[in-house]
Amino acid sequence: MSTSAPITQDVMTIPRKMPEGGKINLIGLTRDQLREVLIANGTKEKQAKMRVGQIWQWIYQWGVRDFHEMTNLAKAYRAELEETFEIALPEVVTRQVSEDGTRKYLVRIAGGHEVEVVYIPEDGRGTLCISSQVGCTLTCSFCHTGTQKLVRNLTAGEIIGQLMVARDDLDEWPVPGEAKDETRLLSNIVLMGMGEPLYNFDNVRDAMKIAMDPEGISLSRRRITLSTSGVVPEIARTAEEIGCLLAISFHATTDDVRDMLVPINKRWKIDDLLQALSDYPKVSNSERITFEYVMLDGVNDSDEDAHRLIDHIKRYNIPAKINLIPFNEWPGAPYKRSSNNRIRAFANIIYQAGYASPIRKTRGEDIMAACGQLKSATERARKSRKQIEAEAGVAQG
Ligand code: SAH
Ligand code: SF4
Repeated sequence: MSTSAPITQDVMTIPRKMPEGGKINLIGLTRDQLREVLIANGTKEKQAKMRVGQIWQWIYQWGVRDFHEMTNLAKAYRAELEETFEIALPEVVTRQVSEDGTRKYLVRIAGGHEVEVVYIPEDGRGTLCISSQVGCTLTCSFCHTGTQKLVRNLTAGEIIGQLMVARDDLDEWPVPGEAKDETRLLSNIVLMGMGEPLYNFDNVRDAMKIAMDPEGISLSRRRITLSTSGVVPEIARTAEEIGCLLAISFHATTDDVRDMLVPINKRWKIDDLLQALSDYPKVSNSERITFEYVMLDGVNDSDEDAHRLIDHIKRYNIPAKINLIPFNEWPGAPYKRSSNNRIRAFANIIYQAGYASPIRKTRGEDIMAACGQLKSATERARKSRKQIEAEAGVAQG
C-alpha cells in the first residue's frame, strides 16, 4: 500500500467504510460509532443500545475476539455479526524482553508500517508506553523518532490495539467467574512512544476513552499520562475531553535553547506554554503536571538552568514535579548524557526548592526500548537536512 499520501499536522479522519469485500473492524469505535455501524448493518434500532453494551463488554472486558464466544447473543445474530464485522488487532511482529523485564513489541499495522510498544514492569504496577503516530512531524534534535518522517497517524483502533496485544501477551484478560486480580500487571498508560499525541488528538482521545470505560478495560484517568512537546492550543482540550494527566517535554529553560531542542518552541514560546499549563483545568497538588527534562551534557544541565526552571514554574504557580531523564543515546545522536554527578546536583537544586525531582531510571536500554530510542526497523530513512528545515518552517508558520 502507498505511504505517500500527503501528511499534514492536522487531525486526520480515518474512513471507517467497509473496504471492498472486507469486514468492518470494531476495535477502536466509540460506543456511538459502534451503535451506528450495528444499525447500518441490520441491528434493530430498539435493540442497538443493549447490543452495544454486550458486544463492548465481550471485547473490552473479557478480551473475546470471536463472535461465536459471545454467548449472551442469539446464535443467528452472532453469525450475522461474524459475516460483517471483525475484531482485529495489530499484529505483533517481534517481542523482545530486556534483562530488566521490560518488553518491547514491534507491532505491524495496516499498510505494513510498524510501531513500537514498551511494557515496563515496576513494583506494584506496570506501565505501557504507547505510540500515537508512525514517525513524527516534529524534529526534536535529541529524539530518535524525530529523525523519522511522519508516515501517518494511528487510528483509535491501532492505539487501543497496542494495549490489547500487550494484555494478550501478559495473559491479563479476566476469566468469567474467576476473582479479579487486584494488582494489575498493566496498570498505567503513558503516551510517550512514537509521535506527538496532540497532533492526532481525536484518535488518541477515542482510544483513551475506550481504555477508561468502566465496562471494559476500566483504567482510571489518573493512570493515563499524555506527554506532549507543547502543542499549546490542544492542551486545554486534553483536560476537557480526555481528563488524563499531563507531561510536558520541557527540556530547556531559555527560548534559544528550547528552539534548538524542541523546535515547536519556535511557534509556541516557553511563556505561552507555561500559561497554558497554569490554565490546565484539572491541575492540583494531587494531579501535578510532570515536567520532563532530558539531561544533555553541557547543553541544558547547568545550575543556572535548574534555578531558571524553578523560577518559571513558580512564576506561573504550576503544581509540578520534574522528571529528570538521563539522555538515551542512539547511533549518530548529537548529544551526550550528563554525568551522574551533574544530574544529582541538578536534581538537588530542584528538590531544595520544594519540588519532587525523580531521576528516571533507564529501562530496557539493551533492547533500545528506552525513551527516545524508539524507531522501527522498517522506517530507517533519515530525514534530509532540507526536510528538517522545511518542517521547522511549518512549525514556525
Ligand atoms: N511526542 C511526545 C511524546 C513522545 S516522546 C513528546 O515529545 O512529549 C516521550 C518523552 O521521551 C519526551 O519527553 C521526549 O522528550 C523524551 N525523549 C525523546 N528522546 C529522548 C532521548 N534520546 N533520551 C531521553 N528522553 C528522550
Ligand atoms: Fe516527536 Fe516527541 Fe520525539 Fe519531539 S520528542 S520528535 S515531539 S516524538
